[in-house]
Order: sequence, then structure tokens, then C-alpha cells
Amino acid sequence: MPKIFALVPAAGQGTRLGDALPKQYLALAGRPMMFHSLDALAAVERIDHVIAILSPLDRHWGAHDWSAFPDKIEALFAGGATRAESVANALSLLEGRAAPEDWILVHDAARPCLAVELVEQFLDEVGDDPVGGLLAMPLADTLKRAEESMRVGETIPRDGLWRAQTPQMFRFEVLRRGLAKRPDATDESQAVESTGQMPRLVQGENSNLKVTFAEDLPLAEMILARREARHCREDPHPPDDRHPREGGDPAPGAAQ
Ligand code: C5P
Repeated sequence: MPKIFALVPAAGQGTRLGDALPKQYLALAGRPMMFHSLDALAAVERIDHVIAILSPLDRHWGAHDWSAFPDKIEALFAGGATRAESVANALSLLEGRAAPEDWILVHDAARPCLAVELVEQFLDEVGDDPVGGLLAMPLADTLKRAEESMRVGETIPRDGLWRAQTPQMFRFEVLRRGLAKRPDATDESQAVESTGQMPRLVQGENSNLKVTFAEDLPLAEMILARREARHCREDPHPPDDRHPREGGDPAPGAAQ
């Protein structure tokens, strides 16, 4: 049975949000943003290891309390200059520990609203695919190509176009080869595509948004708060509260 290693690249500087703190550490629902991604992945029983990939210069990880997490979470201070390099560095360190057929699931620290149910559904749909796949959303908007003058140069038909999300999950060896061939890839799928493989598309959810701009933060907070409220309504006393903390309140997403 292949193992599943979940990697959470969190070595970016996140300068687009205009904050001195890298965005994966910005406060979101009372926790550093990346807490929520790690929490969702750790809650999935089929995932064997959850690994945060941090910058070798990271000064923030140690300042937070991660004791709520089970043993399956670890930090690798192996981030690179780009997201692809961060993932490739982590794969090098996993050499020997992960078998060629094991799964590498990659999920951005900057997508904190990932629902546990969506991860389960994704894993079910990718199943034992020989290559792997990714979450994505069919494009709803009409696409325009801008000219330098900020006038529309062209309308691009949206038929068959999808917006890639994460998680993306590929066999260790398939991803390793892909990233070696396309070290400039902006997602794992592109790296794998470059080797001639065709990743499977699995429909994601709009709530699995990527926090990129300042206005995304309150939206992400609202999604997490609504989910938490729904779960509290459905089961106010979850029997398997995964992360009991001081005061006995469940960790965000604990009842998912
Ligand atoms: O900046 P962007 O939103 O595209 O980053 C996507 C994810 O990749 C973030 O979680 C970020 O921390 C991570 N990243 C990384 N190493 C880099 C750049 C980005 O792990 N050098």
C-alpha cells in the first residue's frame, strides 16, 4: 500500500499582501494561516506524514505553538527560491524514505480553507491512478488578453479551461522527474505534464481559495468561521476531538 506524504510549501515571502510577516504566518481565525492547512491534512487518516517546507531563514515557526498537532507533522527548513524549488528540495530529502510509488500530495500554505471532506473526496477520485491528479475549478469568467495599453486585445474561449488548485498529488518518482525537467513550473501538474503524462482533473471548491490579496483574508476568515459554526451545530460535543487544548476548546476544524 503506497504511503501518502503531504507537503505544505510555506517558504514564500508573501510580499503581495504588503505585510512584513510572510503570509503563511498572518493571523487567520486566531491561528497562523498555515495552521489551517496543516490541521486539515493531519485530520485525514490516510495521510501518513504532513511536512511543512519552511525557509532555511524562517524565524517564525519556533514562535508558535504547534503542540496541538499529532506526531505526523514535521518541519523541514529546506525552502528554495521558488515554490517548485521548495518542493524539489523536500523531495531530495525524502529520497530513500519515500518509495517511487508513494504519493506526494502538495498543498499550499496559502490555501487555508481546505475542507477535510474535500481532501477525502480528492484521494478517493485519484484512487490508484498511475500518474496522479489535482483539484481544479472550471472557469466561470470570460477571459481577456490585455494589451500593454490596458485595452482588450483578444477574448480567449473558456471552453475546457480550468483553474488549478491544490492539493495536487503525484507518485514520488513521477513528480521528481517532472520537477527535474521543469524547475520553473508554477505547479506540480505542469512539471508532470512536461514529462508527457496527463494528470487527472478532480473538481475542487471555490471555498478552497488562495489567499493572495489583502481582501482575501476576511473572506477566508468567513469561510472558516461558517464551517466551524456548522460543525458545532451538527455535533456540539465531538467524541473524537483530535486536538484538545487548554480550556478544552477544540482546535479550528477539529470537528470536521
Ligand atoms: O506566492 P504564492 O501564493 O504563489 O505561493 C504559493 C505557496 O508556495 C505558498 O504557500 C508559499 O509559502 C509557497 N512558496 C514556497 N517557496 C517559495 C515561494 C512560495 O514554499 N520560494
